[in-house]
Amino acid sequence: MNGNGFVAPSLIYRLLLGIVAMALLSILTLSHVTWRTDAWFYDMIVGHLSPPVDERIVVIAIDQKSLTELGRWPWSRRIHAHLIDNLTEAGVHGIALDLLLPEPTNSDLESDRLLAQAIRRNGNVVLPVSAEPYQLNSPGIELLPTPELARTAKLGHSDIALDADDVARSVFLYGGLGSPRWPSLALALWESGKSENDTTRKLPGLRYLHETDTTPFMWTRNYQVLIPYTNPPDGFPHLSYVDVLNKQIPDSALDGRWVIVGMTANGFSNGIAIPKRSELPGLYYQANVLNTLINGNAITPMTPAGQWLLASILTVLPLLFYRKSTPQKFWIPLASSAVLTLLIATVLLTFWHNWFPPMSALVTLSAITLGWLMRMWFITQQQAHSDPLTGLANRMRLNHVMEKEIRQSARTDSPLSLLMIDIDHFKQLNDTSGHDMGDRALRMLAHAVCSCAHRPRDLVSRLGGDEFAILLPETKSIEAINLAAEMHALISYHSSILELPMPFTVSIGVHTSPGGDEQMTPSSLLKAADTALYQAKQAGRNCTRSSIGKLPSTESCIIHPAS
Ligand code: GH3
Ligand code: MG
Repeated sequence: MNGNGFVAPSLIYRLLLGIVAMALLSILTLSHVTWRTDAWFYDMIVGHLSPPVDERIVVIAIDQKSLTELGRWPWSRRIHAHLIDNLTEAGVHGIALDLLLPEPTNSDLESDRLLAQAIRRNGNVVLPVSAEPYQLNSPGIELLPTPELARTAKLGHSDIALDADDVARSVFLYGGLGSPRWPSLALALWESGKSENDTTRKLPGLRYLHETDTTPFMWTRNYQVLIPYTNPPDGFPHLSYVDVLNKQIPDSALDGRWVIVGMTANGFSNGIAIPKRSELPGLYYQANVLNTLINGNAITPMTPAGQWLLASILTVLPLLFYRKSTPQKFWIPLASSAVLTLLIATVLLTFWHNWFPPMSALVTLSAITLGWLMRMWFITQQQAHSDPLTGLANRMRLNHVMEKEIRQSARTDSPLSLLMIDIDHFKQLNDTSGHDMGDRALRMLAHAVCSCAHRPRDLVSRLGGDEFAILLPETKSIEAINLAAEMHALISYHSSILELPMPFTVSIGVHTSPGGDEQMTPSSLLKAADTALYQAKQAGRNCTRSSIGKLPSTESCIIHPAS
């Protein structure tokens, strides 16, 4: 900004704002810094979804009652074999036995053989594969069931995907050490009872293309889906292990069901934190994953590229509605875009089972709002000190600058000149050619006057109506008079371009303070220049008069414009 004021044009401002917004959005999307607020928003929306509980899923719990009746844990694998045979007889669809069985029972190898036989007889039993330690990016080992059991059962990983806040919002449908080759326990169970034709159904989930950059020691995951938990999350048909073992449950309660067997007894199962609710036994986590797969309502997180694209559209959209004429109303497209962002995220999650984290777009929109507020503040500041028609400084700003320059002139003993310019017979021009032409003439004059005042501290202002002033610090009287002559010539040239119907001339009054004047004030300076202007008008207009400081008042000169 120079002494005569400058506001970046609207297009440049929008471009700059757009570039900064895109850079910020990219950083936010790639760094996931907004994940906590995104998770909060996700939990709030997903908490209101109440997916139906599929009654074909049955949970068989190793609960306190079973422990009391069957004795201390671990139980003989003969008991599990017996349970599986009971379930096979009842006609279950498939069984997930969510128990880690990595070592043979050395004291009773026959029990392992009986369990393997029971598993073979059923044909649809899934056993878990787990990894230790159970953390991403750290070396680990896979824990598989004993080879005998692994040969007869189907295998599925029991990895529970915890977010950074230890909440289990999602599941990876495939995972494994080195490569994600194991289906998740629930997926393996779901697919175990299916015919070949059924398996053509496309798997949901966000795919990660990291097969090439993994090490054999890293637990890798693929096909991430978010789980819409049922309400209540443990609202699945529930049976006690011991009751099924003792055949106290009618076969009709088990026929055609997917059965998940696992621990719920206190002290044996670790609770898993799920969105907005308390802890849930791992067994019910698997039941919810299975329920999600059966219902086909798994929520897929949007790819980072998709997130970036949608967020970019939502943040750039308001910039397209920025109007130079009404910048004050820019908050309307900004607020609309913020509401639209939340609405799209909600609708996508609720109806399309697609998760678009909205916070990076909202933060970027907030940054744009900040940029806009700063610009509004800047414009308001400028409007308070500038003339709206010509963009020049107004009287208030001239007074402010004059006070400063008068102090400077008094301190440094340097001359200070003021030129007052008034259009001759301007009223006539307005009357004959109309107000619009008058306005154009005023803008032309502003332009011509500005092109004469080159120095950084020169200040051109419009005092009001057809009256202009130029403050010229460190300018001697003769220099100011020469400048006035230059101005007459330039105005004559510019007015010829406008093709006005009558001659366009100005009268100029010049006053110069030689410097060191402690008594001078803005109003005395203005008054002196105004007196000189009055004299120019009296002398027939289209001329300049100068009253030079302390010289005799008659000392003046008339300069006619170059023809
Ligand atoms: P003089 O030579 O004595 O200065 O004659 P004049 O007609 O120029 O008289 P004066 O300076 O008093 O007239 C100022 C005129 O300027 C009055 C008004 O019609 C016109 N005017 C004031 N402000 C504006 C404006 O913003 N736009 C236009 N088009 N005209 C204006
Ligand atoms: Mg006038």
